[in-house]
Amino acid sequence: MPIARVALDVPLAMLFDYRVDDAVPDDIGRRAIVPFAGAAKVGLILDIAAATDLDPGKLKAAEAVLRDMPALPADWLALCEFCARYYQYPLGQVIGFALPPLLRRGKLPKRRTARRGDGDIEIREPKTLNADQEACLAAIAAADGFQVFLLHGVTGSGKTEVYLRSIENVLAAGGQALMLVPEIALTPQLEARVSERFHGAHVVSAHSGVADAARASGFLDGLEGRADIVLGTRLSVFMPLPRLKLIVADEEHDASFKQQDGLRYSARDVAVFRAKQLGIPIVLGSATPSLETFHHAKSGRYRMLELPNRATAQALPKVRTVDTRKEKLQDGLSAILLAALADRLERGEQSLVFLNRRGYAPVLACPACGWISHCRRCSANLVLHLADKRLRCHHCGLEASIPRACPDCGNLDLHPFGRGTQRLESTLSERLPTARILRIDRDSASTPKKWQALLATIHTGGADILIGTQMMAKGHDFPRLTLVGVVGADAALFAADFRAPERLFAQLMQVGGRSGRADLPGEVLIQTEYPEHPIYRALAGHDYAAFATAQLEERHAAGFPPFSFQALLRAEAKTMERSLSFLAEAREKAEASAGEHVLLYDPVPMRLSRLMNLERAQLLVESASRPALQEFLTAWIEVLRGLKTGHGLRWHLDVDPLEF
Ligand SMILES: [Zn+2]
Ligand SMILES: [Zn+2]
Repeated sequence: MPIARVALDVPLAMLFDYRVDDAVPDDIGRRAIVPFAGAAKVGLILDIAAATDLDPGKLKAAEAVLRDMPALPADWLALCEFCARYYQYPLGQVIGFALPPLLRRGKLPKRRTARRGDGDIEIREPKTLNADQEACLAAIAAADGFQVFLLHGVTGSGKTEVYLRSIENVLAAGGQALMLVPEIALTPQLEARVSERFHGAHVVSAHSGVADAARASGFLDGLEGRADIVLGTRLSVFMPLPRLKLIVADEEHDASFKQQDGLRYSARDVAVFRAKQLGIPIVLGSATPSLETFHHAKSGRYRMLELPNRATAQALPKVRTVDTRKEKLQDGLSAILLAALADRLERGEQSLVFLNRRGYAPVLACPACGWISHCRRCSANLVLHLADKRLRCHHCGLEASIPRACPDCGNLDLHPFGRGTQRLESTLSERLPTARILRIDRDSASTPKKWQALLATIHTGGADILIGTQMMAKGHDFPRLTLVGVVGADAALFAADFRAPERLFAQLMQVGGRSGRADLPGEVLIQTEYPEHPIYRALAGHDYAAFATAQLEERHAAGFPPFSFQALLRAEAKTMERSLSFLAEAREKAEASAGEHVLLYDPVPMRLSRLMNLERAQLLVESASRPALQEFLTAWIEVLRGLKTGHGLRWHLDVDPLEF
């Protein structure tokens, strides 16, 4: 009597046995409909066994095995198993996440994409490579089996051209290529470029913005070998690709490669595992690599490929600091920056004022008693949105109308405090009344459609000054942009998070790279109270290596990653006491098994300690050895799963956490 061992998308780290009378070994990797907790559920068959430990009387029969699509291959199942093991997450839930929603529900897309191209892929108008690009391309082409390349190239150095040529080589040899990018917003431009270049190739997009049916058929195109190139955000790392011969992860340092809920995986790290598993090369590209990746490249684990020059004749932008201790600010803007903006306006060039909004959002304040608009559900301030006259919590989404008077003292004269993008917009339009100002933030670019419309306005020269946040830092070329002003960056210099300087450097380097891309020279002006800070000096010298080396020395001295490996146990409950006591119990239970190689810190409230009426705390676990940490976590998670929680307490484990 054959038994199917089925993974189900439920929060239990186990497989479930069902009787399947007509099961064959080929059913491994197929979906099955099974009875579970009084309902029919779709699961994935991971094994066909001859016997079960279950009491034969309790063994239920599967309702059906779905043989309407090819079974998921062994390497795909192994990838999911790796994620379950490494991120300490139930395998059934990993598979539930990796499968497109339609397939997870036991369905198939109605319309299947046509066949794979026509077999004739025509390469259109490749650019001529410079010597550096040629050398990188040759190194990647010469890779024999698994190898990780760090393609470290300054902005505008032509990394994408190296990716495309490498993909061309792979397609010519009959392989499939997977290219990961950090943001959905970046995929349409890239998709157009790739489809244009590889005429006749079947290019599949995979990101959360793709509708259910299209996502499922894209997945099947991958699985059945029709897709030639897959372009996508982090979830595309789970695309089954039987002929996969190359993985590219562009902007590999980008924090959005790490998922912040559910399966807290790093798509970049999973991609490296996948390349190793398949014995193929992987290219990690960035102008500002993550310190982990840079460290691996320096120590020889990864191979460093460098593009030190811009592909065009254009020099890198000139970076200068404006010392705001000496320069008096008017509404947050220095006279030097205002003059530079006016200058560009006169010449008909574009400028960008970049605002690092972290900790810099405008709140409503009472100058009489010091009251500040505060979210009643979170330990965060409500942010003032002047456009629709609302207060909003950027963490939980709570909305409120603007009070007419101070709720504490009744003062009628409430003022915005801090400079958000909207406030900056009104200041700039007062100072430069003829300028056409375009604000780009999560509000004005809330949908991909709105975002594309904004980009079109910028490209057609419909704006003189752009005001933008993090979104602007990523991969867009604006030929007429010649000035970037940076406002409010200092806050990140003193953040509690040890990764804040790394993020700030990457952000400013990238945003600076937006300027001066065509035939016009670019300039970056950074307003700061700390012009001598090593970060700003490294930026002025375009010296990533100096910055990274200094940071790595600091991390080494402090024992931070990449010189140690970390995991965070986070808990949330109605009261902080409850969260902390759960973590204390978890710590106590771990002490015996932690041994001398694993360090357990004390439970502490999180930086944003209160979110949506829940009090949050965390416990950091650290080890100099990844295997030691993994071994410890594997044992610990079993203990944690057995702890009584109750009182609405929820917890999760985050392996290699990025946010603290
Ligand atoms: Zn007041
Ligand atoms: Zn809130």
